[in-house]
Amino acid sequence: MNRIVIVGGGITGLAAAWELQQQGADYVLLEASPRLGGKIVTEYIDGFTIEGAADSFLTQKPWAWQLCREIGLQDRLIGTNEAQRQVYVLHGGKLQPMPRGLRLIVPLEPDGLLESPLLSDEGKRRMLAETDVPPRLDHADESLAAFVRRRFGQEALDLFGESLLAGIHVSDPETLSMQAAFPNYVKLEREYGSVIRGVREGAAPPPADPAAPRTAFVSLRNGLSELIAGLQARLNGDVRTGQAAIQIDSDGTLHTSTGERMTPEAIILTLPARAAGRLIESAIPAAASILGTFTTTSSGTVSLGYRAAEIDHPLDGFGFVVPHGEARILASTWSSTKLPYRAPDGHVLIRVFVGGYEHPADIDLSDTELIALARSELKRIMGIQAVPVVSRVFRWRDANPQYAVGHLDRLAELAALSPAWLHLAGCSYTGVGIPDCVRQGRQAARRALHLVP
Ligand SMILES: Cc1cc2nc3c(=O)[nH]c(=O)nc-3n(C[C@H](O)[C@H](O)[C@H](O)COP(=O)(O)OP(=O)(O)OC[C@H]3O[C@@H](n4cnc5c(N)ncnc54)[C@H](O)[C@@H]3O)c2cc1C
Repeated sequence: MNRIVIVGGGITGLAAAWELQQQGADYVLLEASPRLGGKIVTEYIDGFTIEGAADSFLTQKPWAWQLCREIGLQDRLIGTNEAQRQVYVLHGGKLQPMPRGLRLIVPLEPDGLLESPLLSDEGKRRMLAETDVPPRLDHADESLAAFVRRRFGQEALDLFGESLLAGIHVSDPETLSMQAAFPNYVKLEREYGSVIRGVREGAAPPPADPAAPRTAFVSLRNGLSELIAGLQARLNGDVRTGQAAIQIDSDGTLHTSTGERMTPEAIILTLPARAAGRLIESAIPAAASILGTFTTTSSGTVSLGYRAAEIDHPLDGFGFVVPHGEARILASTWSSTKLPYRAPDGHVLIRVFVGGYEHPADIDLSDTELIALARSELKRIMGIQAVPVVSRVFRWRDANPQYAVGHLDRLAELAALSPAWLHLAGCSYTGVGIPDCVRQGRQAARRALHLVP
């Protein structure tokens, strides 16, 4: 009998399998699709390295780079191009540099904010006056929009809160849970009475691990699929693709799409929340109905490769973000500036994000229409008229989990309803970034082995 079944072969499921293997436990991993990796996929076209979704991961949360190191990929990690780390904001049809010293929503250099043409004088004053806004005393959850409006003002929300913070989750800031998505800011407000003060005073970083990468984000030389391939090569357990879990009974018996039945000691579900809910509908209907309330948005990426000589734009930064109503696209990454090895010599790679909660129907456009949309927006915003030599569209339907206000309460209810053999992990729960998914997968594995409560 397999001691533990993992459902889903994205990064969360693979990290769970790796942890089980490290602990000497027997496992089977079921992945419905023919390929491992879920939302991590890299394609190589005519010398371009094109990421379908994620293109890099945060190093401040150590779990992903540590996993790379454990599986022997430390020499394959590549940092972002720090010489050109500028990010632009589309404002009134023009790209303006993000104010100097702005860390997401937190202005750490007043002069940098005061110099910026992005905000009105009143908007700047309001942002800098965050240190005088009394902290909220009740501990109820609130939306990102309510938090940013309350502490930094409406202009900060319109310009940065939505595009930079809610953008990470492809979310509507009016519904995104502050406590689930940005617990660090909530903590700083409580502990220091002000987020700006908290970042300044509490900013002393933990002692640097000499092995830690030096840039805030890293990727792998041949793209993030290297992480998936690296795990796949090192996992020696029973890893199956093309086999889905289709139902779980109340005694923990799992049925698969190929007619197999398994009754393992524990089941780790790493598939998206609503799909997890459907699997346990008859076994634990109360938990299934909570999972059924978890919502998602859809997004897409359009990657365009050009001959560098035909682009009359310096591409001097990581790209730009788009505040509400400024464009039909959500953001753009100048991939070959941000990371090395993304375009062949003499070429550049640009990626455009489409869809999101404001333009959900765009995901249903054809590839030709999406490429035309991306090109016309790049022409309007950056003056790019050239014809791309490579174009590739990826659609991510219902792939962006929305942590709606009250998310943490729902997780607590789920934990109370879950039998000891059931473990939920992955981007639907406590963090969407790759490091958080790795952490959740490994933690679920350790819980399944009763190594942690
Ligand atoms: C466009 C986009 C850009 C992103 N950019 C970044 C970024 O730059 N950096 C970053 O850190 N994060 C980024 N993310 C987020 C990150 O990539 C994801 O949160 C993470 O990869 C999710 O991993 P997961 O294993 O939890 O889920 P998934 O990758 O969704 O894996 C779940 C797996 O379960 C499988 N499955 C579903 N149903 C069944 C079933 N019944 N039986 C068996 N298997 C099943 C699916 O086929 C899938 O492979 C991005 C996400 C998107 C959509």
